[in-house]
Amino acid sequence: MTELIPAINLLLATFKTAKELFEKSDSTGLKSQLLAMNEQLLDMKEIALALRDENISLREELKKIKEFEDRGLTLKKDAYFDKNDNGPYCPTCWDNEKYLSMMRKPLSEFPPACPRCKYSLDR
Ligand SMILES: [Zn+2]
Repeated sequence: MTELIPAINLLLATFKTAKELFEKSDSTGLKSQLLAMNEQLLDMKEIALALRDENISLREELKKIKEFEDRGLTLKKDAYFDKNDNGPYCPTCWDNEKYLSMMRKPLSEFPPACPRCKYSLDR
């Protein structure tokens, strides 16, 4: 997949050539240029869809980072705690997937462990 701006520039150049062929009434050359423009438009659509998906993903990640900042989380002794000292939150889930997972103490057991990835503070 190419970048969007070069793809747009290529389409504009093809359009210019097609317009010149139309003005000269060269229907064979014009048909070839129209087919090329169709291919280039399909490529641009693919690029635009990939950019849209990347944008959605980046917005989700940014939202999670903002949530992290709003909670005032800090790393203490291998786990995250918020500004009200709530925690521990799993550092593995946050660092790898930006997922905030409260680590819980299993009944009558120690230490706290992540219910999601099983990371434990027993280290
Ligand atoms: Zn975890």
